[in-house]
Amino acid sequence: MAVATGEQQVVDGVDKRLYIGGEWRDASGGETFTVIDPATEEALCEVADATPEDAMEALDAAVAAQAEWGASAPNDRAGILWHAFELMNERADDLALLMTLEMGKPIAESKSEIVYAADFFRWFSGEALRLDGYYKQFGNGTSRVLTMKQAVGPCLMITPWNFPMAMGTRKMAPAIAAGCTVVMKPAQLTPLCMLALGRLLEDAGLPAGVFNIITTSSSGATTGPLIEDPRLRKLSFTGSTEVGRRLIEASAKNVLKTSMELGGNAPFVVFEDADLDAALEGALLAKMRNIGEACTSANRFHVAESVAGEFSRRLAEKMGALKLGRGTEEDVKVGPLIDDDSREKVAALVKDAIDRGAECVVGGAIPDGQGFFYPPTVLDNVPADARVLSEEIFGPVAPIATFSSEDEAIERANDTEYGLVAYVFTSDLKRALRVCERLETGMIGLNQGMVSNAAAPFGGVKQSGIGREGGKEGIEEFLETKYVAVSM
Ligand code: NAP
Repeated sequence: MAVATGEQQVVDGVDKRLYIGGEWRDASGGETFTVIDPATEEALCEVADATPEDAMEALDAAVAAQAEWGASAPNDRAGILWHAFELMNERADDLALLMTLEMGKPIAESKSEIVYAADFFRWFSGEALRLDGYYKQFGNGTSRVLTMKQAVGPCLMITPWNFPMAMGTRKMAPAIAAGCTVVMKPAQLTPLCMLALGRLLEDAGLPAGVFNIITTSSSGATTGPLIEDPRLRKLSFTGSTEVGRRLIEASAKNVLKTSMELGGNAPFVVFEDADLDAALEGALLAKMRNIGEACTSANRFHVAESVAGEFSRRLAEKMGALKLGRGTEEDVKVGPLIDDDSREKVAALVKDAIDRGAECVVGGAIPDGQGFFYPPTVLDNVPADARVLSEEIFGPVAPIATFSSEDEAIERANDTEYGLVAYVFTSDLKRALRVCERLETGMIGLNQGMVSNAAAPFGGVKQSGIGREGGKEGIEEFLETKYVAVSM
């Protein structure tokens, strides 16, 4: 299947080289790697493949730019971020198409991600102006406490492929607002979005060296030396818990400040008193947003026994009606998964559940043809030992299990090493608050199927991570508090 002319133009419009110290240049070894369209399995283009030496040059550039950027005026940092917000909106159509081509999500969802991603530029443009400290007395009235907030210093950022722009802007916008410089390493599967963002920040007036991009096919070997370099002061990572654990270990050597946005296994809990229409609408959003490839995706549905039959029938109807196809085509609601390994993992989880006695109500079979497609799938009566309930699915599969009491619902929801987000549907306010207090997650969608917003502190507890992105907390990840004891 040939790439359409308009699509090719958008791909051609991206500079596919490394961005280091304000210069676009080839990788030092002259190597490239291939980016493919997951809907066709065909090559879209080649992108520069950075070596560890290139990465070190990017860190050199970030270190060189740090002092001046850290001392820049808040108005200047805010102005650049605001300009980036405007440019992102102006370029939304091309950026959305680019995202759909390399990542697969339907165009409408790519556009939503652009809005979400741009919002971090807007939000942190404001936050840049609100950095403060305080002044107070020692308890005994002798000396004074003076605090100031200062930029942490050069940061390494590593981002995943599933939200190739928003996971970047959610980190870079607060870092830039705080006065930090950045080396950014996007996912190998979706480098084009980050390269387009690099150009956008350059056009917004960000000084050379403040933001650097290294695209690479060997993430560990390329970023490892940076994590070992004492000039690096911060590692901000979004990705799997497995890789996050390894990066935390590597960060111990230099006691690097880390932020970790890791995997999830979100429970979606529907009580018998829930508004079922709202719960189904929320379920569709929480499950099918981003083809189920979201850390916030509803991974398992725990539904009160008395309403489970109706919930599963209606969810299957809704999910079965969603059109599967290439994200650029009209009316497509479900794109391909990112690659064949991901699809195989989803298929294996479904098979395991069925082997253990679950019933497949809709979907469950890989379609013929090109592209890593997997259909929306609903599994009913899923037994507690099915792997699909404990492992991150990252695909359009909704496993449904039942509960018979509030205590059981909470116990099952908390029965995981993850703790990113939970969804709760009930019309009883007291129950809602009781359940929210007992759930072991960093975020809860209460009678709504989406939590992500630039104004809110996004993040998890347990093995879903460390730190928060967005909200007023987001900028703190890139700031140190310095305290001066003032003799009076
Ligand atoms: P991943 O395999 O952990 O990769 C994430 C990033 O880490 C990619 O850029 C990857 O590079 C890089 N990486 C892999 N191994 C590395 C190493 N040894 N050293 C340095 N970097 C390394 O995760 P993914 O498959 O891209 O993303 C899916 C996961 O991200 C899911 O678990 C999801 O829940 C999680 N996620 C969490 C959040 C959140 O906010 N909590 C948001 C989105 C996604 P390559 O591309 O080269 O492999």
